[in-house]
Amino acid sequence: MSGRTHTRACPERTCVGCRERAAKRDLLRIVMIAGGCAPDPRGTLPGRGAYVHPASVCLDLAVRRRAFPRAFRLPGPLDTADLRRYVERAAS
Ligand SMILES: [Zn+2]
Repeated sequence: MSGRTHTRACPERTCVGCRERAAKRDLLRIVMIAGGCAPDPRGTLPGRGAYVHPASVCLDLAVRRRAFPRAFRLPGPLDTADLRRYVERAAS
């Protein structure tokens, strides 16, 4: 057993901050809107998405690693102010 097959029923994504895999529903989907990172909590917005834990520590890591420009294949840096506000509100 490789240990990978059991994840099928529960889709996983990698957090672009801490790089840990987690259930998709435990991560916040991020999409690019008008040059800025925007939260997509329902996962319904079109386009390329990146996933991060809804925690400011992971957001900080993602920003420091330039994970969002890489995920969206843009030169960056990208505006994460809205995203940060969202995460801070969600955490409190
Ligand atoms: Zn994380």
